[in-house]
Amino acid sequence: MEENNYRIERVRNIGFVAHIDAGKTTTTERILYYTGRTHKLGNVDEGTTEMDWMEEERERGITITSAATTCFWRDHRINIIDTPGHVDFTAEVERSLRVLDGAIVIFSGVDMVESQSEKVWRQADKYGIPRLAFINKLDRVGAQFAQTMEMIRERLNAIPLPLQIPYGSGQDFQGMIDLLRMELIRWDESSQGERYEYLPIPKEMEAEAKAFRETLIERLAESDEELLMEFLEGRELSRERLLPVIRRATLKGYVPVLGGASLKNIGIQPLLDAIVDFLPSPLDIPPIRGIWWEGQNGDRRRGEKVRHADPGEPLAALAFKVVTDEYAGRLIFLRIYSGRLERGATLLNSTRGVKERISRIFHMHANDRTEIEAASAGDIVAVVGPHELSTGDTLCDPRDPIILERIEFPEPVLSAAIEPQTESEEKRLTEALHKLAQEDPTFKFRVDSETNQTIISGMGELHLEILIHRLTRDFKVTAHVGKPEVAYKETLVQPVEVEERFIKQTGGRGQYAHVLIKFEPLGRGEGFVFEDRVKGGAIPQEFIPAVREGIEEAMQSGPLGGYPVVDLKATLIGGSFHPVDSSDLAFKTAGARALHKALSQGGAELLEPIMEVEIISPNEYLGEVVDDVKVRRGEIKAIESRNSTQIVRAEIPLAETFGYATRLRSLTQGRAVYSLKFARYELVPSSRKEEVLKGR
Ligand code: GDP
Repeated sequence: MEENNYRIERVRNIGFVAHIDAGKTTTTERILYYTGRTHKLGNVDEGTTEMDWMEEERERGITITSAATTCFWRDHRINIIDTPGHVDFTAEVERSLRVLDGAIVIFSGVDMVESQSEKVWRQADKYGIPRLAFINKLDRVGAQFAQTMEMIRERLNAIPLPLQIPYGSGQDFQGMIDLLRMELIRWDESSQGERYEYLPIPKEMEAEAKAFRETLIERLAESDEELLMEFLEGRELSRERLLPVIRRATLKGYVPVLGGASLKNIGIQPLLDAIVDFLPSPLDIPPIRGIWWEGQNGDRRRGEKVRHADPGEPLAALAFKVVTDEYAGRLIFLRIYSGRLERGATLLNSTRGVKERISRIFHMHANDRTEIEAASAGDIVAVVGPHELSTGDTLCDPRDPIILERIEFPEPVLSAAIEPQTESEEKRLTEALHKLAQEDPTFKFRVDSETNQTIISGMGELHLEILIHRLTRDFKVTAHVGKPEVAYKETLVQPVEVEERFIKQTGGRGQYAHVLIKFEPLGRGEGFVFEDRVKGGAIPQEFIPAVREGIEEAMQSGPLGGYPVVDLKATLIGGSFHPVDSSDLAFKTAGARALHKALSQGGAELLEPIMEVEIISPNEYLGEVVDDVKVRRGEIKAIESRNSTQIVRAEIPLAETFGYATRLRSLTQGRAVYSLKFARYELVPSSRKEEVLKGR
């Protein structure tokens, strides 16, 4: 059993993030090659790369899963967490950002800072992730290294630290000039870029290299007083002197910039060096926080706990991805934040309150895996064994439990009915849906209690399409899928106070529950809040959870169209009970009936999901694109012009986005691209409401 003795400061948990097509797959694949994990160079265009092991990704040429792969460079272990590029999978991006410590943002030197890279950049900002920038495709005609770097400063509000500049451009691109060594790096084509050499900087590049190095040192001096002094004194600053300063600056949010052409095998090894030299180890990031309950049953208080990246502390790990693997079964990817994880251990799944056994532990590589006996704080591994451990759950030492901050996922907004082709497939369909839902927290399914139909829901048309495709391919279930439907919701309009007596006397033991509840509307996205303000034991404590449950159950189906009811607060203010006839069931029924009453007295309204849309269109189609947005009840938020394109930011109700891809293609002769992301729920205008409800 190899390689699990890397000291924690020699571990890097990183991810590559990029706009689709910037070259993330190619770069990752080159990295796996040079670090010795794969034996031949793949090519995305032929569908043979190592990371894109899911067939969909091959077919679509995009990376949608979030597997982790381990490789080694300069005696460091680098765990690469794969991040998806398509915006329909924002949840996947967030989930992977949550468990990585540093990121490499890849830009295409031709397309520069695309609005999608901007989005990913902001997400990384949100999690405070230190990052490097790699400007790729410098071999393409029109590639702009300096401009891209400038855009990182202007549009992304970061301070770029140029570590290299390109030598030559387009067809004539020959290598990178290293500004720390002040040497030219040239790669040897015949060795597939495996060999490279340092040469003197060509005369004609000397001035430019000096100028960029000056910029680098000035920016570093801003971040480091000692360096500033040495700089002002005119001292010679060696590479060894600068490396630790750059590292500290990177951890503070400065962004080292490197470049190359992954496809031409140029620039990869210095990028690996930069990952090791500048990106944080698990020791460099803040300790993780979580919660647990203290005290006895009657008086349990929520307390905060902190765990450090220390193998000596009790175990805390977060499951960030579940994959159903044909051979291994359920494979769960874990980020270990503290303690040690050992094979055979029985641990607590604190999120669900169940014990789980670890039967095997692996380091995953792109196309094989290494079984290990144990892993410690800071590492990323895959395990087999736990049955109930799902994405977002915490696994911890049962003697010192903790629940780590959950990863937040948006609720699915689009649903469709699904039906197996034959009755015999019904059980398999349900099993497959269970597995898919465990893997992907933004995918849900349920059985409609009225129609008995199975309803699946996800984040958009493409998301559902991919899931359905997986059903057929991976689970061999053929199913008929209905028209996708918007996940409408219902909510209360006005505050009301309702009294509900649920009393039944039919000889023998009867039923008795009496509640007085105040219902109030809450703001969008605030969900459901229940408060107990019953005084003097008018309702015994033991029945109060039942009232809450009754309300929650009734909220699953609203009065307008049977849509879930959201955003309201229920305050239980009074009631009464009967010493013999009162029961949980009676109070539950009373709670449910109270909610129905409240919605009929206070009124119910329909809510619909609103999507944020960003369209990048050539100038000449701007008029058509904008008009079309308006026809879709859309609201233009901003139009930004960039070179020969326009970026339109708008909000459109999800209901009006069906078939948008096709429409946009025909409006702009296929030259515009767009992305769609859930923003929030809003009231459906009354003119639309009837139409929506007519269909129910
Ligand atoms: P991803 O969508 O970010 O994963 O990008 P890919 O790695 O799939 O690359 C997208 C396309 O750009 C593919 O056709 C690659 O062959 C091409 N590509 C990637 N890197 C380079 C590069 O350095 N130079 C050129 N000319 N093409 C590249």
